[in-house]
Amino acid sequence: MTDLEKELCFIKEELRAGDKGYNMSPELQNVHTALHKLINIVIKITNKEGGVSPPSKSLGKCPDCAVQPGQQHKDYCDIERCSVCGGQTLVCNCNEHDKDFAKWTGIWPGQAEADYLGIDLNQICTYDYIKIFFIKKPFNTEVI
Ligand SMILES: [Zn+2]
Ligand SMILES: [Zn+2]
Repeated sequence: MTDLEKELCFIKEELRAGDKGYNMSPELQNVHTALHKLINIVIKITNKEGGVSPPSKSLGKCPDCAVQPGQQHKDYCDIERCSVCGGQTLVCNCNEHDKDFAKWTGIWPGQAEADYLGIDLNQICTYDYIKIFFIKKPFNTEVI
């Protein structure tokens, strides 16, 4: 718990204790209610900034072969990328393709990388990025 969180908890407890102890006039009651609302908003904002808000997206099944995130694609899935050549496993004939390396993550292959780079998904395939992202064997590529 950060110092700010501790402080917020303390204020909340104080307010709660105050609720019990006083015979409040309607005006004071209103101020008190407003304070409660305010403190809850501050807590919400603090949680967001602290990075504890839940993910805004969830991982889904492979749109083609319907496996769950973390599982190997089924045979003949057209989304699976070949870990040897980086192309679609469906259309290449490479030996030693590693199905574990190419497992479905819940994100379209290359999409997270493309988003990170601020480019279109197709550009992942037009540049040498496939060597870095889809191919298992390390390459001595110059940094793109
Ligand atoms: Zn699949
Ligand atoms: Zn291949």
